[in-house]
Amino acid sequence: MLPALIAHTTLWPEALNAFFVRAPHMASSESPVPPIDWDALTFSFTETDRMFVAHGTWEDGWSEGEMMDFQPLTLTPAACVLNYGQGLFEGMKARMAPDGRITLFRPEMNARRAAEGSARLVMPEVPEEMFVDVVKRVASENRRWVPPNGRGELYIRPIIFGSSARLGVAPADEYMFVVFAVPVGPYFKGGMTPISLRVSQDHHRAAPGGSGGVKAIGNYAPGMMPSKKAKSEGYSEIIYLDAVDHQYVEEVGAANFFCVRDNVLYTPELTGTILPGITRLSIIELARSIGLEVKEERVDIDFALECDEAFCAGTAAVISPIGSIEHVERVVNYGDVGKVTLDLYRRLTGIMDGSSEDPFGWTLEI
Ligand SMILES: *Cc1c(COP(=O)(O)O)cnc(C)c1O
Repeated sequence: MLPALIAHTTLWPEALNAFFVRAPHMASSESPVPPIDWDALTFSFTETDRMFVAHGTWEDGWSEGEMMDFQPLTLTPAACVLNYGQGLFEGMKARMAPDGRITLFRPEMNARRAAEGSARLVMPEVPEEMFVDVVKRVASENRRWVPPNGRGELYIRPIIFGSSARLGVAPADEYMFVVFAVPVGPYFKGGMTPISLRVSQDHHRAAPGGSGGVKAIGNYAPGMMPSKKAKSEGYSEIIYLDAVDHQYVEEVGAANFFCVRDNVLYTPELTGTILPGITRLSIIELARSIGLEVKEERVDIDFALECDEAFCAGTAAVISPIGSIEHVERVVNYGDVGKVTLDLYRRLTGIMDGSSEDPFGWTLEI
């Protein structure tokens, strides 16, 4: 009965509003909407109100595109993306500051990375200005889904892919740029809980000359099997070593790796096989700004296992402390969350969620 009432808002009895309390920060709209249970949010899919779609071709570039209600896409079964994986994704968050402002974190970096990835996958590049503008519009038109400060974020997912039919392996003629958004809960339900990891001995994520350095959709399905297996055996994720020597740390699942030894922060250098994370870059810049020495170099797994602290970094979890790593027969425990890890986490999340100053100008208000 209630869904019918929602569809026909003219039938909405005022009395029912008591059951559907609008989030206090919500822009007022004509029709009452069901409330959102912020505390039930996890990192999983929820359908929101609005999405964006633009079409592109090599000749004409990108159409202006349009905002529309969230809905399925129509694609030919011969679409290049479905058959050959010609596509990439991006991921970023909109957050509500304590004063109610909604901000994005360095969206121009996502735009640049998407453009670089598009070049690698032979897709027309979405201009940086258009990319950032669209992300702002999607966040804005899904404003009621941005969780209150400290209770989660609105995860924004841009995708770019070859949409027209292609039978031989070659780039498509037509492309789509789609952006949708999903509210997600805080990654750490009970504060910063260190995770346990296992080094993958049988699988590698990316090889030199391949596509590991871009968010190509095809890079992710092959990681599902080893990741699922590790999770079923009690680990949170796997650590990938490099594909040539099987000796140097590359990534933690879909997050970048950091470790701390004698007050020096180490992270694997970008060699093309590692995804250049925006969280990674921000941690490096932040660490240097507070006088911490940062070394971007090859990180030998045996060195990492001797470190004082270790953590991984990415948009989803921001900074996730590593509690233990298993490598072949050896298990190393790092103990409680390290002080450098905690300091960087507090400083970075403070800037991100608007609870502290942003001396870098990283946040962009929508
Ligand atoms: C997205 C991603 C990251 C983290 O990048 P952020 O920009 O910090 O979110 C790290 N590794 C992989 C493989 C990724 O796909």
